[in-house]
Amino acid sequence: PQPGELLLDVDKVRKEFGGLVAVNDVSFQIRAGEIVGLIGPNGAGKSTTFNLVSGVLSLTRGAVSFRGGRVSGLPSREIARRGMSRTFQHVKMIADMTVLENVTLGSYLRGSSGTARAMLRLDRAEELRLFAEAEVQLERIGMAAQMHELAGNLALGPQRLMEIARALCSDPALLLLDEPAAGLRLKEKQALAEVLRQLKREGMSILLVEHDMEFVMGLTDRIVVMEFGTKLIEGTPDEVQASPAVMAAYLGT
Ligand code: ADP
Ligand code: MG
Repeated sequence: PQPGELLLDVDKVRKEFGGLVAVNDVSFQIRAGEIVGLIGPNGAGKSTTFNLVSGVLSLTRGAVSFRGGRVSGLPSREIARRGMSRTFQHVKMIADMTVLENVTLGSYLRGSSGTARAMLRLDRAEELRLFAEAEVQLERIGMAAQMHELAGNLALGPQRLMEIARALCSDPALLLLDEPAAGLRLKEKQALAEVLRQLKREGMSILLVEHDMEFVMGLTDRIVVMEFGTKLIEGTPDEVQASPAVMAAYLGT
């Protein structure tokens, strides 16, 4: 994408679960090269919004467009194929396989049908291509030295980085990260923030769902704050930090 190009257009999306309005006509946009934070107290509707954008949940109303084309209504796989790549809040991995194997197998691990069988159906050239791509992405995020360690032996911080490397395979235009800093120690958070800054310098665009206010403040260009399913405010980190409504929303929980 060209810098500044409108990548993601979330237009009045709504999600009702029975009588509960989990996401109440929320709109925001992401332009190429931006890191946008989506924050709010527990139950605010962040994860639901994330799942509406990535196609994991269907909308009650509204529309999501990506790179100029409407993607709401499409299966999540198709949205991923168009260049939107996501991580999950809980690390998905095979603990007794290496980091490199886990990243290589990423697209199959995410799939619904038999992982190993899918892999066996690949021809040798395709398999080598996937391994090479995984290696490039692991080097890109500074994990070259841990590539051949068993994934289960890594601490949570490097496991989250492994997830990001997996999401980077297939060259996405937009990364969606679901609470990547949750549960990390300070040092690990700093390492993660540095990786995200590096990706931004390379032109990557990122939507970051996060509970940890401090983490998003130092990292994002813009922040969308949600409360009770509604967009409370959108602004720069400074604007958000100075908002009494945001402070009240956080202190009120
Ligand atoms: P957040 O990620 O900001 O903590 P969520 O998007 O997970 O918030 O949840 C928003 C609201 O929607 C909450 O009240 C939650 O209980 C409700 N909710 C989320 N998913 C479902 C579901 N599958 N069925 C019913 N209610 C749900
Ligand atoms: Mg959540």
